[in-house]
Amino acid sequence: MSVRTGIGWDSHRLVPGRPLILGGVRVEHELGLEGYSDADVLTHAVMDALLGAAGLDDIGVHFPDSDPRYSGADSVALLAVVVELVRGRGLEVVNVDTTLMMERPKLGPLRAQMRERLAAAIGLDPGRVNVKASTGEGIGFVGRQEGVAALAVATVSERG
Ligand code: MG
Repeated sequence: MSVRTGIGWDSHRLVPGRPLILGGVRVEHELGLEGYSDADVLTHAVMDALLGAAGLDDIGVHFPDSDPRYSGADSVALLAVVVELVRGRGLEVVNVDTTLMMERPKLGPLRAQMRERLAAAIGLDPGRVNVKASTGEGIGFVGRQEGVAALAVATVSERG
């Protein structure tokens, strides 16, 4: 089996008056993420990891913020488009692992919902999509609650 991996990273600024959407799940918080689409930092990192694994450039190439179609876009719907592009290259997604870097709020059971949402969009069992969370320990832009960052790694295999 020929296996490929890709990495994704994204960060967005935390601001008042915006919803906080992570992995397609609305998180109750006094701050939300600023951005052109729904600013779902976790889903964006997953999209870039999948595009990277397939050798398909990055999210900015496929969904430019100069295109009004992506204003307020549902990032999970865009993730499903990315999965179709990956499949179009003769590749199947094997698993996705992620780490959210955010100080608060604690995500608790919402992490399981994020796994299910992302897994459904990718067409995987939720056991193959992992969401971890790590705080900034009060330092850096994550620790000062100026923003949220996310990392993702995706593994894909050539369809045999
Ligand atoms: Mg982004």
